[in-house]
Amino acid sequence: MTSDPLKASGSGLLDDLYREIILDHYRRPRNHDPLQSPTCSADGANPLCGDTIHLEVDLDGRTIGDIAFAGSGCSISQASASMMTEYVKGRSVDDARRGAEAFQLMMTSGEPQSLEGFDDIDALLGVAKFPARVKCASLAWKTLEQALEGGGTASTEKDASHD
Ligand code: ZN
Repeated sequence: MTSDPLKASGSGLLDDLYREIILDHYRRPRNHDPLQSPTCSADGANPLCGDTIHLEVDLDGRTIGDIAFAGSGCSISQASASMMTEYVKGRSVDDARRGAEAFQLMMTSGEPQSLEGFDDIDALLGVAKFPARVKCASLAWKTLEQALEGGGTASTEKDASHD
């Protein structure tokens, strides 16, 4: 497909294929059942849109053995969280961090990241052209990084939580 992934007007933010993938994750979120005894957890908020994410991670050594999220907000924020959990589940913490970096790069550059396992996540590429919605899409990944750093609260409105 070489056409512009975005529709310029109306409620259609993204083209049909991408919108279908996003809505599928929104309506049937993956990894949405709370974990029994998570190793770490974090909460994330995007006050500009009203999106919230609660994330629970079960670490098995340096591997994300299981992960679950809950939350509320717009379809992009919740779909992105669903996609993120599907991507990082079973991967190493380092891989998860690389995924978070790749996602941020995708949002700031507007370029696909050709990362193995990023197929559904690529559906969010068109969001890069809408700075306000980038925060919606990035919330889950910011919350993941927060959880992997030991928990706490992540917000799209401050970026001082890193080492
Ligand atoms: Zn949002």
